[in-house]
Amino acid sequence: MGMIMKAKETADAVYNDIRKRVEGYASQGHRPCIATILVEGDLASAYYAKMKQKAADKLGVSFQLHAFGKDAAEQEILELIAKLNADRDVHGIMLELPLPEHLSAAAIEQAIAPFKDVDGVTPFNKLATVTGERGIYPATPQACIRLLKHYGYSLAGKNVTLVGRGQTVGLPLFHMLQREQATVTVCHSRTPDLAFHLRHAEIAFAAVGRRNLITRDMVHPALVLVDAGINESDDGSIAGDIARDVADEVTAITPVPGGVGTLTTAILFENVLRALDYQLGEKETEQ
Ligand code: NAP
Repeated sequence: MGMIMKAKETADAVYNDIRKRVEGYASQGHRPCIATILVEGDLASAYYAKMKQKAADKLGVSFQLHAFGKDAAEQEILELIAKLNADRDVHGIMLELPLPEHLSAAAIEQAIAPFKDVDGVTPFNKLATVTGERGIYPATPQACIRLLKHYGYSLAGKNVTLVGRGQTVGLPLFHMLQREQATVTVCHSRTPDLAFHLRHAEIAFAAVGRRNLITRDMVHPALVLVDAGINESDDGSIAGDIARDVADEVTAITPVPGGVGTLTTAILFENVLRALDYQLGEKETEQ
């Protein structure tokens, strides 16, 4: 059985650091605040918003939930974002996805002020994620890399296969992996033979959203695997993109749940503090 790279220890370290920093801000009269925008209609995103609220309460971060009915007009949401952008007591703004079909996520995300964009979805922060310049990078790709590093795996000079090139995870992760000096092969829905690319990989990432996409016959004993996928199993539980029994065949693998998703939530709050620092004109910390 390969090593199971659980995220709890890394996430706890991030939360401890955040708690200390929140105390520091409090002594200067500041309280970090994240505003989440939720359009009704998707149960999972309502659940994730609730999880964020719980985490915020524990960290001493202020949390605002702005909920819209499923028929909400884009203009109403844009008006709220304009208000939140101008509100000096709100430091981070996040839009829960997916949205109902009549709303454009891209149009709404673009309206968020880049220095409050804690999910790294605005054009400014997407470009910063590509170039490595100052900005707020999306939390999930950061979590993928940080989890590997916590377990002592370096990416420099490694052959890496990335499965998925989606806007939320795969695409930003591709750029971040290159900055880690990895040699990256990107696979997607038109890749005919995933197993071929996994065979040549030392480290692989799955970010697709298809349960059991990667199976035990596709991997090899020296492989280290990071699973960012989140899917619902038949019994209602959460599963990744990698079949559970793959853990028996590889060197190390992240679990789902308890892996990338767990650390992603912690890093999202780190991004809120980064946003607050930008707004206070403080020095940047490494991400
Ligand atoms: P997305 O935008 O839907 O992208 C999915 C990617 O998978 C696309 O690049 C697609 O290829 C590729 N793909 C689809 N079928 C494939 C196949 N059979 N073989 C290889 N590649 C295939 O997804 P996303 O928003 O980036 O999210 C990816 C996963 O991460 C989802 O499960 C999502 O729930 C999860 N996620 C997790 C977290 C977390 O905190 N852990 C956070 C956000 C998202 P094409 O480009 O060719 O269409």
